[in-house]
Order: sequence, then C-alpha cells, then structure tokens
Amino acid sequence: MLSSRAVLVDEPAGVLLTGRRDLPDPGPFQVRLAVEACGVCHTDSLMVEGHLPGLSFPVTPGHEIAGRVDAVGEHVAGWQVGDRVAVGWFGGHCGHCRFCRRGDFIHCTSLQVPSRAYPGGYADAMVVPASALARIPDGLSAVHAAPLACAGVTTFNGLRHSGAGPGDLVAILGLGGLGHLGVQFAVRMGFETVVIARGEEKRALAAELGAHHYIDSTAEETGPALRALGGARAVLATAGNSDTMSAAVDGLGPDGVLVVLGVDAEPMRISPLQLIDLTKGVRGMPSGTSADIEDTLRFAALTGVRPHVEEMPLERAADAYARMMDNRARFRVVLTTGVRAVRP
Ligand SMILES: [Zn+2]
Ligand SMILES: [Zn+2]
Repeated sequence: MLSSRAVLVDEPAGVLLTGRRDLPDPGPFQVRLAVEACGVCHTDSLMVEGHLPGLSFPVTPGHEIAGRVDAVGEHVAGWQVGDRVAVGWFGGHCGHCRFCRRGDFIHCTSLQVPSRAYPGGYADAMVVPASALARIPDGLSAVHAAPLACAGVTTFNGLRHSGAGPGDLVAILGLGGLGHLGVQFAVRMGFETVVIARGEEKRALAAELGAHHYIDSTAEETGPALRALGGARAVLATAGNSDTMSAAVDGLGPDGVLVVLGVDAEPMRISPLQLIDLTKGVRGMPSGTSADIEDTLRFAALTGVRPHVEEMPLERAADAYARMMDNRARFRVVLTTGVRAVRP
C-alpha cells in the first residue's frame, strides 16, 4: 500500500504533527487525489478538539481541498486522471436515506465530512468518494479554489437562496474569512451591498471589495442604520456573535431574512415582535453540495471573485492552525503541498 505525508492529531486537542499515513487504493466509486492546497477553516477546530461526534483518532483535518485526480476506482463515471477538482465540507452522501432519495444531498443523514468520514486534506494525497468532487475551472488556481469549496460556497449559497434580487439591499455582517467573500459575491450578484463590521479600520477594505455602504457597528446601531438605507432584504451573518446577529434583525425590511452562517453556541435573542409585522425570517445555511461548489467556482472564475489568502507549506500546519485560532490570520490561511505530479 502507498503512504502519504499527512498531518496527524493523535488525540482530542492534541498537537498537529506531520507524519505519514497509509493511502489506500481508491475503491468502487472513489478517486485518489493529489492534494495541491487545503484551506484552514475555523470548523477544523471541531475535529482537532474532538468536539464532533463520530471522530476516530488520529484525525487528519482539512475540508477545503483542491488538487488533481491521480487514480480512479471502479464504477467512477465522468472523472479522469489529471482532472482539477475541489472537495469541501460535503464529502459524499449515502444515496439512499429519505433526503438523498429526494435529491436533497446536503441533508443526508449519513453525510460524509472529510477528516471525520475519512482522512482530510492536510496531506499530500487522500481518497474521496467521486460524488464529493467539484470541477475547478481553468483560470482559478488551487490556492484560490480551496477556500471557495467551504467559505465560498457557504456565502454564495446563503446569498443566492436568500430571496434577494438584483438591486435589493443586502448586508454582510463581518468582514473576515467568510465575509470578505460574501461582499464580493453580493456585489457581483447585483445587490446594493452594505458591510457591517466593528471599527473604522475595515471601511477601506469594504470599499475595495466593492461594497456600496459601510456601517461601523461600534459607532452606530446596526438596525436604525440599515433602516435608514431602506431596510435589508437579507443580512448574511458571517461573524460568529449572537448579539450582533440579533441586533441586525431590526435592520431587515419587509420579507427580510437573516441568514446565519457564523457559528456561536450562545443563544440569539430575537423577540417574536421583531419578526411578525414585516414578515421577517431567520434561517441557517449549511454550506452546499459538490454541485453547489462547482457553481461557486464557476461564478468566481467568471466574475473575478478571489479569496484573500496567506499561503503556508503543509509542514507548518500547526503554525497555520494556531494563526487561524488566535485570529492572527486576516483572511484564509491555505496550506500548500508542492505536490503537482500525477501518477496514472
Ligand atoms: Zn470550512
Ligand atoms: Zn443520504
């Protein structure tokens, strides 16, 4: 059996060490990938810390993966050695649960997530179900495609399923790893785009990314400020803070929706009165399927949406993870392997 260089976490909250792990041949309906780049996502901490049920240690984190197919298992249709592909949180579905039978794969009751269902992308190579693959269009590098497979698809889907149409007022709450992508997508989808962030220092960045308005939530109240602009059709809450998310509900206009992407364990405080009169809603958004990722990558390639990334080599995964956890990384840290060779 082949082996691959990979990051291993031996126990919950253990250190990230670079070692080697067995690399099986791809089985039926699976492919083997040569990983070129893997984004470091905050959700990786659920795996590293052992908070996600069903983990088996050692864990190899990583679910923002971009690379090339380098071996194809039996019964795989439509994919060839050398194809450029991305894999995100959606790492495969069962095909037979009641949601899969309706074509609702993201809600599969046995959804496979890379690094829980199988070793993840902090590695030179990995084996994945072919159903998890999204094609990377020409013109989009692996380093840019990787974060789009998780942070990107989550914001892209959140916006395109929000009910907002061209010209509608849409606010992006937070301007970090998710938010800076959300702004770019919102502007290119034709929304009048507002960025809500803490402090003045992000105003210039918001404008640079194309935002039409900026609200400094430390200087003015979010709700009245959004209402002064006409009320938002959607607020995409990318910042993981329940209080700021709750405050944004007051800035929604008729039929406005708060789309929740940022993770916070604290309850949100929203009164029924805030929702009823203007028919407002609150909904979550759990990333998207491999087909959604492919849509995201194509849209990004077509319109010029690009994540802001900081590249670090795989052997510095522990540093990269620490930068992300301590909020020292401004946007997305992306691990690169240097692997380019295709082994047919
Ligand atoms: Zn992620
Ligand atoms: Zn299923």
